[in-house]
Order: sequence, then C-alpha cells, then structure tokens
Amino acid sequence: MTKETFRAAFKPVAEGLFGKQKVRAYERPRFEERLIEDMLRDLAEIEPVEWYGYAFSREPLNGKFQDEQRRAWMEKSLACGREYAEKICGKYQTRDPEKLAECMGMNVSFPEFPEKTDRVMFAEYRIPNKICIYMDAVKKAEKLFEKPGVCRILTKDLKVSRLLLSHELFHCVEEEYRHEIFTKTEKIRLWTLGFLHNDSNIIALSEIAAMGFAQEIMGISYSPYLMDVFLVYGYSPEEASGLYEEMMEYAGIKNLKVQMTDVSYLER
Ligand SMILES: [Zn+2]
Repeated sequence: MTKETFRAAFKPVAEGLFGKQKVRAYERPRFEERLIEDMLRDLAEIEPVEWYGYAFSREPLNGKFQDEQRRAWMEKSLACGREYAEKICGKYQTRDPEKLAECMGMNVSFPEFPEKTDRVMFAEYRIPNKICIYMDAVKKAEKLFEKPGVCRILTKDLKVSRLLLSHELFHCVEEEYRHEIFTKTEKIRLWTLGFLHNDSNIIALSEIAAMGFAQEIMGISYSPYLMDVFLVYGYSPEEASGLYEEMMEYAGIKNLKVQMTDVSYLER
C-alpha cells in the first residue's frame, strides 16, 4: 500500500462515518476545522463509560440493542479490560507493553502502511502472534506533540505506538483466555429454530475491553477512544473534526456543534 492509496482509503471511511447525514443531504456535510487542542481537551473530559454510544456505533449488531444494555456492556467490558491488564502485568511482572509483547511471544513489526486493506487501520493483531503498528499514522500523530496544548492534555510521556500496541495485546490475551473471558463468552442469540440456534459474539465488547486494557497499562486518565480523532487529524483535520462532533454527540454533549452549512455565519 502506498501513501496515496492509504490517503485515498479515508474517503470510503468518511462516507461510512457520515452516512447517516448523507441520507438527507446530497453532499456530505462539511465540518468546521477545529484546533486539535480544543478537540482533545473536550474528549479527554468524557468519562470512559460515557463513550458507549460511540463504541457501539461501530458494532454490526448495534440495531438489536437498547441503550441500557449498551451501557451495562460498556461497564462490564471496561472492567474486563482493566482486570486482565492487572492479571497480565502481574503474571509477567511488568507494565511495559513492549516487554509484555516479548513475554507473550508476540512478533511485533512497525511497517509504514498496511499491506493491503479496504479500510483505514492504525494497528492490527493477527492470530496467533503477529502485531503490526503502522508508523506513518504514528509519526504524523507524534508531530502534533509539538503543540504545547496537545502535550499538556495527552501528557508528554504518552507514546502513541505503545498505546496502540497495548490495545492489540488485549486481542491476543482474549485469544488465550477465550473460554473464560467476558468479551468472548458473552453472546447474543441471533435466531432459534426448534433445537437449533445461532449465537454471536459482540465485536464492540472486545474493542471496549481493549481500550480499558490499554488505558490501564498506559496509566492515562482519558479514554483511548480519543485517539481516533488524534490519528485521523494527521491526515485530515476536517474528517477529524467531523468525527469529534460525532463523538461529542454520542456522549450527549451537543452545544458545541458548529456545522458549516450556513454561509452567512462563515463570512462573519
Ligand atoms: Zn481492537
């Protein structure tokens, strides 16, 4: 995958992200480009559990759930991620994600871009022991640390690649404990027919727990979900701003929405 195709890959993602608005508009809405510092400050204040709306918005089975259920799953999955962070760090006697990866027999590589993919990815775990951290995105994000506001909010100790690695390590932990871990044992019954039935995992639970796991290992106060905005910003501040608005809306904070559809407002 080249730099150009990686950039181009953002387009279908953006269309997917803003798909709902697309139903009633001919054009995807344009968003006011916001300062990364302002967005991170707001997002860092959202309590981890309050990210449930955003977390489930990426879940294929989301339409089957009620908000009460989403919130309960959010709490359980976050707790599961934190619990396993303690368990694994205790087992290997380290909180360093690179050392953990080594102890767990992971083969970690740092290519610039994904080889081939139809969606944007910043990191990836492949069964049984391969983790890739894509460095083009990481380097772009690290450049943003030159802004004092970014450094203050995320803390200067935050290493983006280590955060991504921690998240991916959870997926490996999940494989190892798949017969007992909550994110794998919790299932939803899709259909029943006589004695037959079909149960499915809920992907969002794994992602939420991986965020809880990463947050615990990195010792950060904010939810790693804000990294979606931070990493997209390196490629497109406008897409990142749109994503920010979506996240804020899911967290129930609506008053910050400034959509650039009113031209007279823009010219003021
Ligand atoms: Zn993941």
